[in-house]
Amino acid sequence: MSQKVIIFSAPSGAGKTTAVSHLMKQSNQFGFSISACTREPRPNEIDGKDYHFLTLENFKKKIEENAFIEWEEVYPNKFYGTLKTEIDRLWQEGKVVVFDVDVKGGVNLKEYFGEKALSVFVKAPSLEIIKQRLSARQTESVETLETRLQKAEYEMTFAHQFDKILVNDDLEQTLQEVEQIASSLIEK
Ligand code: ADP
Ligand code: 5GP
Repeated sequence: MSQKVIIFSAPSGAGKTTAVSHLMKQSNQFGFSISACTREPRPNEIDGKDYHFLTLENFKKKIEENAFIEWEEVYPNKFYGTLKTEIDRLWQEGKVVVFDVDVKGGVNLKEYFGEKALSVFVKAPSLEIIKQRLSARQTESVETLETRLQKAEYEMTFAHQFDKILVNDDLEQTLQEVEQIASSLIEK
């Protein structure tokens, strides 16, 4: 199969992880690009499956070694990055690579992969709904919730730089649209 990638970006809480998990369950044609990051794992997260959890020191070493296609300090002192080795591994396995990255990472990856890439901006119906979803997810402290909400408004302004905008209102409908978007990339 030719080398393709699908990029999901959105403000925190809009529903990227939900969309990506659904896609990964649909077919083994897709392979998730496991990013490196410096935040603490959440209780349900597994090192090497959800993320490669690195110390700040190790992350900086990888930057120096030029190991990343892109990286961002998404939140203060919280670094996230796409490892070149991930893409090589997944393409060698014949997979379509699936990314869950922040909005700047999404724009950078689209520029890097060009025609090989389809970029999707997942949009929540409103900031109020993002707040409700993040609160219900129960993964954030009062402080990190506030940081994420403050950033969300700015992140919304990136939507027009993506190939597609997916409004995640009714979950069922969103998941169907995710399947359609992914099929359109595979059949292209
Ligand atoms: P992100 O990865 O963009 O931060 P998540 O996929 O973790 O967002 O979604 C944030 C929370 O909102 C999760 O608890 C998820 O189950 C929930 N959620 C996602 N989509 C919807 C939706 N359409 N309606 C209601 N809740 C949703
Ligand atoms: P979380 O801490 O909620 O898992 O992720 C925070 C943000 O970092 C999300 O927007 C997520 O998509 C983004 N992110 C995850 N991995 C990467 C990556 O490799 N590069 C970039 N630029 N952002 C990433």
